[in-house]
Amino acid sequence: MHEFSLAVSMVELAQAAARREGAERIEAIHVEIGALSGVVPEALEFAFLGAREGTMAAAARLEITYRQGVAFCDACQTEFVIDNRFGIAVCPTCEVPSAELREGREMHVSHLEVA
Ligand SMILES: [Zn+2]
Repeated sequence: MHEFSLAVSMVELAQAAARREGAERIEAIHVEIGALSGVVPEALEFAFLGAREGTMAAAARLEITYRQGVAFCDACQTEFVIDNRFGIAVCPTCEVPSAELREGREMHVSHLEVA
């Protein structure tokens, strides 16, 4: 459960950015979470409710965009979606494991709505 510390640093980052823009409060924080990042969206939402208290983001919404994991199969030269959270990438066509993960490990704030 590292979602709480993630939520805290996310709010800190958002506050720093909002202050730079001279904003008074944060209305929404948009984040992208990859399926292979190890972050559970529901847990992050819950942690955010605690992390935002007493900050500029106290009434902010958390908008999560969930990104699927994508890997590349060397054998058939195609990208495929990884349908589990563990990063076990096995090509659905060749049934061969792939070591090349192309998407899904990201976890970052994509943009903010401030006022
Ligand atoms: Zn393949």
